[in-house]
Amino acid sequence: MTIAEERATANRFVLSEDEVPQRWYNLVVDLPYEIEPPLHSTEERLALEEDYDWLWPSECLRIEFLKGRYATDPWIEVPEPVLRTYTRYRPSTLVRAKGLEEYLDSPHRIFYKREDLNPGGSHKFNTALAQAYYAAQDGVETLVTDTGAGQWGTALALACAAFGLKLKVFMVRKSFDEKPYRRNLMRMLGAEVISSPSRTTGTGRDVLDKDPDSPGSLGIGMAEAIELVRSEPSHRLALGCMSYYAAMHQTVIGLETQAQLAQAGVGADVLVGCVGGGSNFTGFVAPFVTGSDRPLCIAAEPASVPTLTQGEFRYDWADYERQTPRIPMYTLGSDFVPPPIHSGGLRYHGKTPILSSLVKNGLITPRAFEQQKVFEAGQLFLRTEGVLPAPESSHAILAAIEEARRGGKPRTIVICLSGHGYLDLQGYADVLDLG
Ligand SMILES: *Cc1c(COP(=O)(O)O)cnc(C)c1O
Repeated sequence: MTIAEERATANRFVLSEDEVPQRWYNLVVDLPYEIEPPLHSTEERLALEEDYDWLWPSECLRIEFLKGRYATDPWIEVPEPVLRTYTRYRPSTLVRAKGLEEYLDSPHRIFYKREDLNPGGSHKFNTALAQAYYAAQDGVETLVTDTGAGQWGTALALACAAFGLKLKVFMVRKSFDEKPYRRNLMRMLGAEVISSPSRTTGTGRDVLDKDPDSPGSLGIGMAEAIELVRSEPSHRLALGCMSYYAAMHQTVIGLETQAQLAQAGVGADVLVGCVGGGSNFTGFVAPFVTGSDRPLCIAAEPASVPTLTQGEFRYDWADYERQTPRIPMYTLGSDFVPPPIHSGGLRYHGKTPILSSLVKNGLITPRAFEQQKVFEAGQLFLRTEGVLPAPESSHAILAAIEEARRGGKPRTIVICLSGHGYLDLQGYADVLDLG
């Protein structure tokens, strides 16, 4: 069947509830190389679990340090209460982007995996649920986190509500001021939302004393969150993207995609996703990267935060105040304050070590994209597919469009649509000059 004939066939690939992945894929076990271990934040030695047991819920700490079965078992079962909640919104649908294909008059098939319809509007609920569950198991009272545009804070607020935890969120100031809707959403869900840099922590006060107009950053927000957790024994940290556990939890995306492509009767030639810390992309590509017929995997980042395309690979801290273990990653420096672009979820100086290692070992191809073109790609997607992507996700869409514009023999291109853009309309209006 030609691509043109195929276009007349199935649009949507839907799995049943009992096909929700019951296990996460623990990719590190299958990698053909070792990932360098985390180092202590300030001392010249390896980081140990007991150095950071005040910081993370215990299971998250074990995953992060690859302890026990995380060092050996490629499959980690999803705890039953988490799985039960997954089945309330997963499997997410895989859709054939026929409108976009026709518009581009492309010889290629384009699909998108819809994480935009999850509770909270992005992929982040997939890991928020697991993190809140593990914290509740430990008897933690309050989770503390940082959020950029607010997708992570919103997802975590939903998850905390589900497992009876309190939540405090340091929200990057630029988004706090310019995206009041997500701030309101988190407060509706019962979270305490603090503009970062704030005067409630030493870190925040230092930043504000130097620059009263600081727009904030995820690195600064994380440093504030960590400082608060350090001073409150009943508090623990939750991280949306800069951790191995978040990436591992996101493998439900890739595992479902694999099953859905099999249903569609095609193999993936190109996988594209956007990268902030790297969790949705890594979870999306994980089941595909170690095979012999590995697709071209494109990690799309903003040209103004070019961590993977222009950053250095070295040990660095995940936060601005150097309190986290040092991790081996591509980084622009932990004191890099990204320009205030509209894709808040991508304003991050580093990329998680698992993704950084995949790039370093040539399994992933990073590409950087300019904001104006990214937003135009989002607009085109809205017009052709009727779906408004998050500005973050529009980076992936632009990467896919560029691939689809290449000629050659028909290929299958799959986009991870990490979130919706209904609370980002002001950003679209500004960049697209909608008046
Ligand atoms: C947070 C976010 C991202 C970036 O985070 P990753 O950890 O790189 O996945 C991308 N898209 C959306 C919609 C987000 O909310």
